Amino acid sequence: MEPQRSPLLEVRGNIELKRPLVKAPSRLPLPGTRCKRGPDQMEDALEPEKKRTRGLNTVTKLATSHPRGPALTARPQPQGQTTAPKVPKKTGPRCSTAIVTAVAPPMLGGKKPTKRPAWDLKGQLCDLNAELKCCRERTQTLNQENQQLQDQLKEAQQQSRALGAECRTLEGELARVQAQAEQGQQELGNLRARVLELEEQLGTQESLVQELQKEQLGLQEERRGLAARLEEQERSLQASEAALSGSRAEVASLRQEATTQAALLVEQGERLHGLEMERRRLHNQLQELKGNIRVFCRVRPVLPGEPTPSPGFLLFPSGPSGPSDPSTRLSISRPDERRGTLSGAPAPTTRHDFSFDRVFPPGSGQDEVFEEIAMLVQSALDGYPVCIFAYGQTGSGKTFTMEGGPGGDPQVEGLIPRALRHLFSVAHELGGQGWTYSFVASYVEIYNETVRDLLATGTRKGQGGECEIRRAGPGSEELTVTNARYVPVSCEKEVEALLHLARQNRAVARTSQNERSSRSHSVFQLQICGEHAGRGLQCGAPLSLVDLAGSERLDPGLALGPGERERLRETQAINSSLSTLGLVIMALSNKESHVPYRNSKLTYLLQNSLGGSAKMLMFVNISPLEENVSESLNSLRFASKVNQCVIGTAQANRK
Ligand code: ADP
Ligand code: MG
Repeated sequence: MEPQRSPLLEVRGNIELKRPLVKAPSRLPLPGTRCKRGPDQMEDALEPEKKRTRGLNTVTKLATSHPRGPALTARPQPQGQTTAPKVPKKTGPRCSTAIVTAVAPPMLGGKKPTKRPAWDLKGQLCDLNAELKCCRERTQTLNQENQQLQDQLKEAQQQSRALGAECRTLEGELARVQAQAEQGQQELGNLRARVLELEEQLGTQESLVQELQKEQLGLQEERRGLAARLEEQERSLQASEAALSGSRAEVASLRQEATTQAALLVEQGERLHGLEMERRRLHNQLQELKGNIRVFCRVRPVLPGEPTPSPGFLLFPSGPSGPSDPSTRLSISRPDERRGTLSGAPAPTTRHDFSFDRVFPPGSGQDEVFEEIAMLVQSALDGYPVCIFAYGQTGSGKTFTMEGGPGGDPQVEGLIPRALRHLFSVAHELGGQGWTYSFVASYVEIYNETVRDLLATGTRKGQGGECEIRRAGPGSEELTVTNARYVPVSCEKEVEALLHLARQNRAVARTSQNERSSRSHSVFQLQICGEHAGRGLQCGAPLSLVDLAGSERLDPGLALGPGERERLRETQAINSSLSTLGLVIMALSNKESHVPYRNSKLTYLLQNSLGGSAKMLMFVNISPLEENVSESLNSLRFASKVNQCVIGTAQANRK
């Protein structure tokens, strides 16, 4: 394919082609330019001829007056005269030739015309005519030449115009091409920037590709690992499936066996339930045989720093079966000072014998004591209200018996934590037979006939905000203490926390003048609720563990200062509530129609744990010291009265 020629080149080609046409007339005078040989110049060129002619004319004119010689007679020209007159150097070759031709007289026989004599006018005329003719011919030639030149000029002008138009077109074209070139440059610049950008992108993409390739390699590696694992898993799955099918067969046979076992279990459950009910009945019968009101006497050991009592002061006579029998008797020997004074001899001693359901001498441990009451505590789970008191003078060991000794030693743990642990454990066992139990604890203090919550927390801690004993609802037998916390408990830790809180609350209330804890009754109550959902059975009873206020009397000989007066009021309140407790027990024992529960806050709060269906145990705590003998005897007498009471047959609170 022939490359496309630019319009510019095409124009140039045209120009080249036409050049000869333009150049040709260059030899001719262009319009507007003056020919070197203009008419004037030509005139000048002709000048010598003219001059010569004129001279001739002059001669002719002169000759006319002469007789005419033969006009065309060739006259021999003198040698050297035949040559044309010299042409001035200025004139061009053509013009000079023409002029020579015109001016020169006709050459006859190659001879130079001879100068006509002046008289030869005819000859001269003839010469002039010939010269004129020659001039006319020359003029005609010149005219033709002129015409030709005019034509050439026109043609050249046309060509010039055409070339001008073409030039303008080409200029326009050039401008357009330049604009295009500029645009092209700009585009080129843009494209270069774009190329750079793309190169940069390419670099990023390449690094990304490398990264991805690396990642791909990693993934391929991982995939291989996974494939291997999958294979392994598949193998183990196959093995498992094989084992599963074996197991299925086994399961089927086991199911059958289970069905048989379930039927057996139901049967066994029925039997077990029957046995459990029988156990409860027998257990209760046993407790009743032991007495619904039992009194245990506990003598605390002599503490370090205390005087050792004289031998024989406290005696624990063995039972009918000898020393192996659990002790039930206690003797206190007291010197009869009145009789001694009368005779002057050493005062004889009076021996006071007491008999209780059980007597624990000073060496008895907490576990030994609890063993005796564990069965009683269990009655609360079977639905019988249980109430355990600790009675005695201050310092006789009531708190030790109920809550335990100091230091958190498990050996000296008291009845409250032990009883609760036992209940939780038995409740758990009964859970296997379909029983579910819940326990809610409360712990209050009754001081000077006001009730105070020992489980109060936060701002109420130790403040003893007013608590009132109220019926849980209209017509309800259940009692509740307003403003007191009732805390659900399910493990020993929670019970421990509650006892700790109670100790803190007591410590806050204590003042230097008044060891209030010994002057108030502490009542720990546990509401027990049992349910056998399968059989629609429910049973519930309160377990009350009461650390009574010190039973000591106020020395009537003491001077009555403000502190003592306060003490007297406290003591009167304590004595009143303790004697009310005795009266209530008596009234219950005598089956009196009116039981004075309302006479004290303590009996009012405990009325549901003291009634006919309740089981009651009283610990009478005794100091081993001789100096406390009077209070010890008082306590023992009170306990003996209680011990003589028999409260009617207990009825389980079954619903
Ligand atoms: P109460 O509560 O009747 O006022 P406590 O329980 O506070 O008497 O006992 C008074 C002191 O005697 C305490 O230091 C206690 O640890 C100690 N105590 C009481 N009973 C025993 C016991 N059985 N064994 C060891 N120490 C005892
Ligand atoms: Mg105490």
